Amino acid sequence: MDEYKEIALLYADETRRKVNELCSGLEAWQIIAYSVGVTLLLNWLYNFLCHPRLTIKQRIVQNFFKFVKSLPIIKDKIKAEIDKNVSDIARDLFPLKPGDSYITELPAKGLTRENILNKVNKDYKPMGGIDWKGGKVSGCVYAGTDELAALAATMYEDFAWTNPLHPDVFPDVRKMEAEIVAMTLKMFNASKSGCGTMTSGGTESILMALASYRDLATERGIEYPEIIAPVSAHAAFDKAAHYFRMKLVHVPLDPVTQQADVRAMRRKINKRTAVLVGSAPMFPFGVMDPIEKIAELGDYYNIPVHVDSCLGGFLVPFMEKAGFPLAPFDFRVKGVTSISADTHKYGYAPKGSSVIMYSEKKFRHPQFFVSPDWTGGIYATPTIGGSRAGAIIAACWATMMYFGEDGYVENTRKIVSTTRKVAEEVGKIPGLFVYGNPEVSVVGVGSKVFNIYRLSGALTERGWNLNSLQFPSSFHLCVTLRQTFPGVAEQFIQDVKECTEEIMKTPNEKASGSAALYGTAQAIPDRSLVTDMARGYLDAYYSTDPIE
Ligand SMILES: *Cc1c(COP(=O)(O)O)cnc(C)c1O
Repeated sequence: MDEYKEIALLYADETRRKVNELCSGLEAWQIIAYSVGVTLLLNWLYNFLCHPRLTIKQRIVQNFFKFVKSLPIIKDKIKAEIDKNVSDIARDLFPLKPGDSYITELPAKGLTRENILNKVNKDYKPMGGIDWKGGKVSGCVYAGTDELAALAATMYEDFAWTNPLHPDVFPDVRKMEAEIVAMTLKMFNASKSGCGTMTSGGTESILMALASYRDLATERGIEYPEIIAPVSAHAAFDKAAHYFRMKLVHVPLDPVTQQADVRAMRRKINKRTAVLVGSAPMFPFGVMDPIEKIAELGDYYNIPVHVDSCLGGFLVPFMEKAGFPLAPFDFRVKGVTSISADTHKYGYAPKGSSVIMYSEKKFRHPQFFVSPDWTGGIYATPTIGGSRAGAIIAACWATMMYFGEDGYVENTRKIVSTTRKVAEEVGKIPGLFVYGNPEVSVVGVGSKVFNIYRLSGALTERGWNLNSLQFPSSFHLCVTLRQTFPGVAEQFIQDVKECTEEIMKTPNEKASGSAALYGTAQAIPDRSLVTDMARGYLDAYYSTDPIE
C-alpha cells in the first residue's frame, strides 16, 4: 500500500513540476483560459461517460448508438423501418374482421342493456384469440373455472360501488382487505410484527417495497440507492429502478442450478445498496433462489431482503403439506424483510390483486403516502392508487375462502406433480434440456443442438401459447390448473417429442417467421432499437386506425 502511495506522490510532484514549466512561459489570461478549457473538457467527458445509474460500459455503448442514430441518413432509415414494423405488428396481432371498424366516439344515444350485450356477442366475443380453456396457454389464466367466475361475478355485483378509500362508508371491504393480508401473512409464517397491504398486482407490490427501501436508503443520504438482483428477477425490479431513480445491479446465475450467484451478490454490496432480491420461484425457469443465503447476507450487512413470490406465492406455502418440501423461503428465515405474493396468479382470484408483506411496520411505513396539508383534507393512502376497486378485494376474499387451505394444498399437489412430470419427460428428449431444478410450476426448455425458437414456433403451430425467453434463448411452460386437466400435459409432452424429432432432422436450419423474432431481437446490439420497436408495439395496441 505504502509503495502505491509513494508512486502517487511522485507522480503528483512530477505533474506539478510539468504544469509549472508549461505555465512559466504563459500570460496570466492564457493560464486562466487553458484551465477553463480543460475543466470544460473534463466535465464534458465525465457527463459523457458517467451516469449515476448506468455503468461506464453501458454509457459508452448508449452514447455510441445515440451518435450513430443521429446521423440523418440512418435516422430516416430507422424511422421508416420501425414505422413499417408497427403497422405490421398491428395488422398481425390485432386484426379486425372484414367490414369491422373501431368505435372512436361515444354513441350519440345511449344503448339499451340488450343492445350492449348483443354488440358484445356479435362484434367482440367472436374476435377469437387463443383458447386458454383447453389448457394450451402457459400461465395467464391460473384456474378460470365457471364456478369461480360465477362466484366472482356475484361479488362484483354486490360490491361494484365499494371503494376502500372510504372505510367508513364501506366497513365490509375494509375488513375483507385486512383479512386477506392477515391470511397471507400467516401462510408465510410472519411473526406478530408482520404487516402488509393489498395492491393491484405483483408489479405494484414490488414497486411498493422498493419505494420503501429507496426512502430508507435516501434517509441515510444515498442519492441513487442500488437494488442487487439476479438477472432472473422480474422486470418489475427494472421498472422500480426506472420510476424511483434507483440503480439496478444485476448478478449472474449459477450456470448449473440457475440460482442467483450469492457470492457475486456479496461482491456488489456497498454503502448504496438499498435491498437484495431473491425469487421464490423466479419467472423464467421456475427455479427457487437460495433465499437463506441471500437473507444471511442481508442480515449480516443490515440490508433489507425482498423475496419475490409473486408467481408462486400461493403454491410454495402449501408445498410441504402437498408432499413437496422446499428449502426455507418465508419470514421464518432471518433477514427476510418483505415478500410479495400474487392472489391473482395461483391464488386463483380475478386479475387486479396481490399482497405485499413486511416483517415489521418500519418497512411498511415509508410505502404509505400522506399529504397532511392538502386543501381536500388530510390525505393518506397505502399504495399507488387513490380510489381502489372494492369489488376486486371482495372477489379475491371470496376466492380464498372458497379454496381454503385444503383446496390450495390439493391444487398445489396437482400443479407441482404435473410440472415435475413435464420436466422429467421433456428433459429426456434428445436435443433438449431443462434449466435448473424446476421445483414448483415452471419448466424452462433449451437446446444445445438447434435453435430453440424453432421448437416454440412449431408448438405455436400446434395451438400452444408458450412464453419465449431470451439471454439465453429458451422458452417455458408455466403449469396452471388447466394443464392438470386429463390429457393436457400428456399432449404437451407428445407434441414436444414429435416437433423435436422433426427439427432434429435438420438441426442447423435457421428459425423463420415469428419464431425468428427473439433470435433477431437478441442479436441487435443497440438495445434502444428494441425499445423503440416495443414502444411501437404499445402504440399499435392503442391503434384504432383503420387497418387496410
Ligand atoms: C408475474 C410476476 C410478477 C409481476 O406480477 P404482475 O401481477 O404481472 O404485475 C413479479 N414477479 C414474478 C416472479 C412474476 O412471475
